[in-house]
Amino acid sequence: MDCLFCKIIAGEIPSTKVYEDDKILAFRDIAPQAPTHILVIPKEHIGGVDELNAENSAVVAHIFAKIAEIAKAEGLKDGYRVVSNIGEHGCQSVRHLHFHILGGKQLGGEMV
Ligand code: AMP
Repeated sequence: MDCLFCKIIAGEIPSTKVYEDDKILAFRDIAPQAPTHILVIPKEHIGGVDELNAENSAVVAHIFAKIAEIAKAEGLKDGYRVVSNIGEHGCQSVRHLHFHILGGKQLGGEMV
């Protein structure tokens, strides 16, 4: 499968890792849109939120538990934003489920 994030998981493309275990990987976004911009992904290939179901969604709870830990470790004590883009209207550019952690400054009030 020609998936950029699967290649990052496999170590075929380098990344700046922030956290890794047997189920998920967190790494710094290559084009940060905030002082802290981290992507958290499952190691299992899931195309996006629109491919989640009862069988594969347990990893999302694990991802969010680790997002809270990562945010604390990154010093995002004043808050942050978690975003997942889905499909064409959502401007998803990589079809592998991922959650952006954005923080380190006052973010804008608009979501779109
Ligand atoms: P999205 O547009 O929501 O699908 O997010 C994909 C994100 O992946 C973007 O923020 C890109 O900057 C980021 N990205 C693309 N290639 C890499 C890479 N090789 N390493 C880290 N982040 C990447």
